[in-house]
Amino acid sequence: MHFIAVCSKCDAKLPVEAVDAPAAITCGRCGQVIPLVVTAPLRADQAVDSCPVCSGGDFYMRKDFDPKVGLAFVIAGAAISVVFYWFGMDLVAYSVLGGAALIDLFVYGRLKDLTVCYRCHTEFRGAYPRTASAFDLHTADVLEQEYERRIGRR
Ligand SMILES: [Zn+2]
Ligand SMILES: [Zn+2]
Repeated sequence: MHFIAVCSKCDAKLPVEAVDAPAAITCGRCGQVIPLVVTAPLRADQAVDSCPVCSGGDFYMRKDFDPKVGLAFVIAGAAISVVFYWFGMDLVAYSVLGGAALIDLFVYGRLKDLTVCYRCHTEFRGAYPRTASAFDLHTADVLEQEYERRIGRR
């Protein structure tokens, strides 16, 4: 699997291959050195058991989906249907809108889940079985604050 560590200082995203992850990585943007503790299940792509950046064991799942792409798609669909609507082809306009929504749903359903660390927002992608639960706002609030206090951002 590979994971994307988030720099604790400047929020740069730093991709790492778990198989041959070093003991520490250096942020390419700000030079911050981030120690990594990559467990055996992480290296073997078997499970996300412990976060290599913050050593936390609390994760949630989310769809591997770029909200900007989804939004662009919806806007494009709306723009095309407006053109048909303008020319009095209401039915075509509605079908385009409906079609765009259907394709959106279809794409969303086929997206893979990725695992995210509640504390430091490291993202994990790989073939390992997904065991984390859905995002919980209260848990996120508590754990993010705990982590930010620990790294001195609050
Ligand atoms: Zn940085
Ligand atoms: Zn973490």
